Amino acid sequence: MSYHETLTAAQYRCAVCKGEGRECHEVWLYDDANAVATLVQVRILCGGCHQVVHMGRAVKYGNGRAALVHLCKLNGIDPKEGKEIYDRAMAEWKERNKRTWKMDVAKPLLERYPQLALLIESAAVSLKKNPPSQHP
Ligand SMILES: [Zn+2]
Repeated sequence: MSYHETLTAAQYRCAVCKGEGRECHEVWLYDDANAVATLVQVRILCGGCHQVVHMGRAVKYGNGRAALVHLCKLNGIDPKEGKEIYDRAMAEWKERNKRTWKMDVAKPLLERYPQLALLIESAAVSLKKNPPSQHP
């Protein structure tokens, strides 16, 4: 998969806030009933929005406040609401981390990028390396 191809298609714009974006983000769909995580899309995000979708990591590395401010600004919510969203997402992430997940790739992505079949063929993975990619 070409990072530059994705960047060009997005015209260097963040898929969320439409600001300048240069970071490539994988979007996963989680089938909790069957423990299957499916790569459904790659999209370009700005640094701020990318921190929001990985807020647990942002908090871990000291950028939690900036990520929370960005989340609140984007959604027109107050910090209390933003923190509630974060807490719910972290609870869901912790719950999902208790299981072993299989990986899949959405058919349109697989047709366009056959090399992604390697993901499916790999052994089941833990979500510990792939925290949830949720955006409010
Ligand atoms: Zn953005």
